[in-house]
Amino acid sequence: MTILDGKNLAAKIRGEVAVKTAAYAAEGKRQPCLAVILVGEDPASQIYVRNKHNDCVTTGIKSLMNTLSAETTEEELLSLIDRLNDDDSVDGILVQLPLPRHLNETKVTERIRADKDVDAFSAYNVGKITLGRDAFKPCTPYGVMRLLEEYNIDVKGKECVVVGRSNIVGKPMALLLLAAGGTVTVCHTKTADLSFHTRRADILIAAAGRADLITGDMVKEGAVIVDVGMNRKDGVLCGDVDYAACAEKASYITPVPGGVGPMTRAMLLENTITAYNNHLK
Ligand code: NAD
Repeated sequence: MTILDGKNLAAKIRGEVAVKTAAYAAEGKRQPCLAVILVGEDPASQIYVRNKHNDCVTTGIKSLMNTLSAETTEEELLSLIDRLNDDDSVDGILVQLPLPRHLNETKVTERIRADKDVDAFSAYNVGKITLGRDAFKPCTPYGVMRLLEEYNIDVKGKECVVVGRSNIVGKPMALLLLAAGGTVTVCHTKTADLSFHTRRADILIAAAGRADLITGDMVKEGAVIVDVGMNRKDGVLCGDVDYAACAEKASYITPVPGGVGPMTRAMLLENTITAYNNHLK
């Protein structure tokens, strides 16, 4: 069994991004820039945003932090997005979700210009991915694909089972696996017999947000198991997969933490660099 080491690969990708930004500076080009908007004081969101900021700083990407109060109106938030959309020195814009309840997440994320939508949550970007066109890829599924690639795990012709059908993880994950030639099944809370599907999986992606959902008897011998879940069990971070039991059968498996999480952050940097290069063209 081989561990799919997302922490290590993410560090390598951050190193590559830093080399690129140093080269841009040496060529006298402007700095790539990511604008992050945080509304309110959700503690988890504050940590995520701080991590993104630190990732930018350490890789030579300019980080524009916009911290707004929980009472910010939709009009104020939309006008900030408009200003960032119009600012030629800003390459990517990310609104940290979830937003306070009085703000409409769809309306807010759709306001980000498609060429700056580095989170790739907009209908336009998701539509392009669905059509198999070149587009920003949502960071978590993109990170999973990069991890599979790094370990030379070929998706072509494989039975791929995704547990979870959310707009930010499950659905785009299924689309990227399909684009890579996998035969994809998407499971969710209404799936009648989850283990019937998971046991068939050559590549199993668990993205349900339920600790210990995937037990050892639910996976095939030799399966590649990717655990996207981030749950708290007795205060400790864990995924959706019973790691000890599943690792015994898996050919490859991601740990939690140290698997998909760091890859998600690294892909945000990559998408920002892609946006930057598109803007310089
Ligand atoms: P979500 O709640 O929006 O979606 C969960 C999906 O799982 C739903 O489609 C639901 O139908 C399905 N599901 C839930 N329980 C199930 C069950 N018992 N059987 C079958 N299907 C079930 O969550 P999300 O935003 O897609 O995130 C999923 C998990 O991934 C969460 O734990 C989240 O914290 C984590 N996550 C991790 C990263 C990362 O970088 N590692 C990024 C995003 C999300």
